[in-house]
Amino acid sequence: MKREPSRLAERTFDLLVIGAGVYGAWAAWDAALRGLSVGVIDRGDFGGATSANNLRVIHGGLRYVQHLDFHRMRESIREQRALMHVAPHLVHPMMCAVPTYGRGRRSRLAFRVALAINDLMGRNRGRETGPGKAIPKSKIVKADRMLELAPGIPEHRLTGGAIWHDAQVLDPERLVLAILRSADDLGAAVANHVEADSLLVKKGGVVGARVTDRLTGESFFVRARVTLNLSGPWVDRLLAASFPGKRRTLFPLTQAWNLVLRRRLPPQLALGLYSRRPFKDRDRRFSLGTRLLFFTPWRDVTLVGTSHRPFDAGRFGRGGVPLDEDEVLHLLEEASEAYPEAEIRFKDVAFAFGGLLPGTVDPGTGHVRLMKHPVIRDHARADGIPGLLTGVGVKFTTARLVAEKLVDLVASRITKETEPCRTGTTRLKGAEIDDWPAFFEETEERRSLSLAPLTHTRLVENHGLDYEAVLQHAHEEEHLLDPVADGSPVLKAEVIHAVREEMAVKLLDVIRRRTHIGKCGLPNEHVARSVAALMGEELGWDPARREAEVAEVLEAYGPFLGKGLQRDTRQ
Ligand SMILES: Cc1cc2nc3c(=O)[nH]c(=O)nc-3n(C[C@H](O)[C@H](O)[C@H](O)COP(=O)(O)OP(=O)(O)OC[C@H]3O[C@@H](n4cnc5c(N)ncnc54)[C@H](O)[C@@H]3O)c2cc1C
Repeated sequence: MKREPSRLAERTFDLLVIGAGVYGAWAAWDAALRGLSVGVIDRGDFGGATSANNLRVIHGGLRYVQHLDFHRMRESIREQRALMHVAPHLVHPMMCAVPTYGRGRRSRLAFRVALAINDLMGRNRGRETGPGKAIPKSKIVKADRMLELAPGIPEHRLTGGAIWHDAQVLDPERLVLAILRSADDLGAAVANHVEADSLLVKKGGVVGARVTDRLTGESFFVRARVTLNLSGPWVDRLLAASFPGKRRTLFPLTQAWNLVLRRRLPPQLALGLYSRRPFKDRDRRFSLGTRLLFFTPWRDVTLVGTSHRPFDAGRFGRGGVPLDEDEVLHLLEEASEAYPEAEIRFKDVAFAFGGLLPGTVDPGTGHVRLMKHPVIRDHARADGIPGLLTGVGVKFTTARLVAEKLVDLVASRITKETEPCRTGTTRLKGAEIDDWPAFFEETEERRSLSLAPLTHTRLVENHGLDYEAVLQHAHEEEHLLDPVADGSPVLKAEVIHAVREEMAVKLLDVIRRRTHIGKCGLPNEHVARSVAALMGEELGWDPARREAEVAEVLEAYGPFLGKGLQRDTRQ
């Protein structure tokens, strides 16, 4: 996938997608699969905003039992299955557990009913997903088994535990990239670091966008029959920039964030524990009285989340919302209260990340009330502006489905025969793997002894079938089999592959999104420098540019989330 922004100016596309988060990526791939010509831009890097910063849970529907929302349950179950099918290297079943207490809504009986409904709704789960992807039946276990699975959980009135399976996307950014690479393969013009400054309006309708290449500063027009505004938390900003005077908020925003703990807690499963802070969600038919905080295993760390709070619009920077110390401490305290025996300390926090989600603040409680359903706004109907659709989603899990509905609308606007949506069944680039466990085992058998097992695992999980293409760089230049720095599991070949094949054009693209180098916090400065040197040779960076790239990385992690946490000064 080569970055050629000039391609965007060469023709009038059937569809221009603004925003390449998970929603924009699915829409672009869907439209390309249906035979439409597509341009897709992101002002940052692919999936680099909200889509990268989530808890990585591909929900299966159990959470919607509380709302008695069977429609959403069914949708989530279907999407979970579809994701495991189309990206078997990146999406895997994940065991989850919540302890049961007493006789009320947190009891074994209450969870037994909820799990039975979940199993009934998902009875076909795993049938078409292939080996290693089946979702086992849920079960209720006794207290001693629950304590074996999650030692140290609060024991007062403990009666057992509810066990079920959701799925986990190992790397949301790489999933977004795989979707876009698939679209690129079908001819879509894909470019990162290209910003839509405003929509292009002609005779009252939208006919594309005026964009700026943020690498060169060059501005130009991208023309399209239909434009999709999928810019996530920025949808209102783009509309306001394009229609001054008509300013109003379509989607109020709230803030959400997670922590990354350096250790696994507990080791094998995603554990939901009750927050001690009161929380009331008026939309729930059966409330647990508070929120469940999830301690989710990811690679060799634990993700904890999610915390929510009202959003102060004054903090909205170009790159989103930087987290401050207060927010990290808030979630840390909440997690420690929920799981006191785990003795979670500030020094355990490797990183924190977050994003903005559509929602409001409940005036009665002051608590965040998240938007429950995605919104598709057809501006032709709603505002008399043809050529423009805006979409705002609420979950990573269901993005494919929302994109399908959007592209159905796009197709209906274009007088052209299009095929039906196939994104739920068509495997992504690098993901044409029928039997994931067998495939993985086979790659292990073929693993060269010079490749450390952890490096091998990450390569295969990140790239699927394409892992051999990464290693091919090292066959041609042997030194690329070296790690990016002593002790790092990431190979120089991965950096080169990211630059040559995955459109990584900034140091941050490689460090934060293409590789694992900076996913759990600011990497050591000498690692950042050595990656900058490697990229610099490929991309022709002079010493000043390399320094600027390193400085940008340090700044992106923020003074607190970067160096502050690495120093480990507090207990
Ligand atoms: C803390 C947290 C935890 C979460 N956990 C989960 C979870 O476990 N499971 C789940 O299913 N969901 C989860 N979610 C929700 C999920 O992450 C989001 O619903 C989803 O990622 C939104 O994707 P998006 O494409 O709409 O937005 P984004 O990913 O933000 O994409 C929008 C893109 O538009 C680009 N853009 C903006 N303006 C412009 C412009 N003018 N020109 C060009 N490009 C532009 C941005 O750079 C950005 O990349 C979580 C969210 C948060 C914040």
